[in-house]
Amino acid sequence: MLNDYKKFLSTIKKKKYKFKFFHQKLSTKSNILLRHDVDFDVDFALKMAEFEKKNNVKSTYFFLLTSSIYNILDKDIINKIIFIKQLGHEIGLHFDPSVYYKKKVLNGLKVELKIFEKLFKKKVKIISFHRPNKKFLKMNKKILGTAHTYQKLFTTKIGYFADSRNLFRYGDPLKSTDFNNNLNLQILIHPIWWQKKFKLHTNIKIKEFIKKKNQDLKKNLLKNLSNSNLSF
Ligand SMILES: [Zn+2]
Repeated sequence: MLNDYKKFLSTIKKKKYKFKFFHQKLSTKSNILLRHDVDFDVDFALKMAEFEKKNNVKSTYFFLLTSSIYNILDKDIINKIIFIKQLGHEIGLHFDPSVYYKKKVLNGLKVELKIFEKLFKKKVKIISFHRPNKKFLKMNKKILGTAHTYQKLFTTKIGYFADSRNLFRYGDPLKSTDFNNNLNLQILIHPIWWQKKFKLHTNIKIKEFIKKKNQDLKKNLLKNLSNSNLSF
């Protein structure tokens, strides 16, 4: 479990990179912004967060308010996210603009920021957009006064790499010249793709995930049907 991620982190640590948060001032070299967009499952994020804590790694976790796969208003989910924060990581809003009609996007964001801040009793310092279109990808200014991960400061001005299912589609960060030269980096890692071997085919990873979700669903159904003799 997380073996490949362990190797990945130890390669970074060997190069003496310092893990920073997005709101912190970056040195000219050897800083890394480690980002996790949580698109599927908060348990996977929690496992990764605990693993990072053990290995003295700091990162930023982003959560969706509008996910159709997990419910951020679920008490257990809230507690898990608070725990991730307590482990010393930063948490931020993963915002999906496609949920809103064009003219309502900013209002939607305003509402989501408010809810997020109330739920987790903290100011959102950084936003990451979920599957952003070009407009959001290219937005360089803060949005509603809040920084976001696609600002040039965090992308074109430093090395930016993202995992995609079972590969780094736009280049492996650890084989990049930026990394070789100890230049600053932002790396996006989606926790779901690293629970088993990173190179494992996406189908297998998704099948495992569906199995897990089914077990979670059964558990939750049983909680709600506690006095019955149902078995399923
Ligand atoms: Zn996402």
